[in-house]
Amino acid sequence: NVVVEAQDLVKDYNGFRAVNGVSFSVAQGEIFGLLGPNGAGKTTTILMLLGMTEPTSGVVRICGYDPTKEPLKVKRITGYLPENVGFYEDLTAKENLLYLAKLNGIKEDVALKKIDEVLATVGLLDVRDKLVGTYSKGMRQRLGLASVLIKDPKLVILDEPTTGIDPEGTEQVLDLIRRMSREMGVSILLSSHLLYQVQQVCDRVGIMFKGKMVAQGSIEDIGRQV
Ligand code: ADP
Ligand code: ADP
Repeated sequence: NVVVEAQDLVKDYNGFRAVNGVSFSVAQGEIFGLLGPNGAGKTTTILMLLGMTEPTSGVVRICGYDPTKEPLKVKRITGYLPENVGFYEDLTAKENLLYLAKLNGIKEDVALKKIDEVLATVGLLDVRDKLVGTYSKGMRQRLGLASVLIKDPKLVILDEPTTGIDPEGTEQVLDLIRRMSREMGVSILLSSHLLYQVQQVCDRVGIMFKGKMVAQGSIEDIGRQV
């Protein structure tokens, strides 16, 4: 039940080594945090897992698939929410999700049912017909999570999921991330530069610094290593 397998990943950009020998794995239903300061190599690592950039060397498997060889298979089982994802401000939440579902080739009648289900999961069902332009940052992020849940992903990858969100909204987003793991069995990989946040929500953590994973383990293990 290994969902993410990364072995000895290296990524060079014109001779600059952005990721330098990173290895880790994420099990089914596990929340794994990539922790590290800006420039540590977190986003580059995520892009290699998604098949959006090819590793210079090393191995990635997502549920056994190589993202550079079978990108569509990986895309089907993976939901990716980049930092500051955009929605159409002058459409409602429901209309935005319907648009995204159609882009993903989901039929309208199937999509409409699924949309209400995921909006209920993220606590936005009662405001589904409000324009996204009226949403707070926290509500937008929960809408982002709804948009990745539509395809019943096995793996969800979140880049800095609480940036710019107020404390109450942050709690709601973190709570939702926990429920996706505990109740839905989704594996989650999230990047953050905030230690306390990773401690609050992750089962295991990898600490990245200058392209290397300098420590890895449970929250308690990490406490002993640093
Ligand atoms: P993080 O997500 O931890 O902030 P990144 O993976 O974005 O780190 O960046 C790691 C390093 O690689 C940084 O020094 C960054 O400047 C560099 N880098 C990232 N993307 C590129 C790119 N496309 N071309 C050249 N250098 C890059
Ligand atoms: P596209 O139109 O390129 O098929 P989408 O509309 O599904 O992609 O998503 C918008 C962008 O988000 C894509 O260009 C891609 O960079 C990124 N993306 C979203 N989900 C994934 C995923 N699971 N794997 C790879 N890239 C993704």
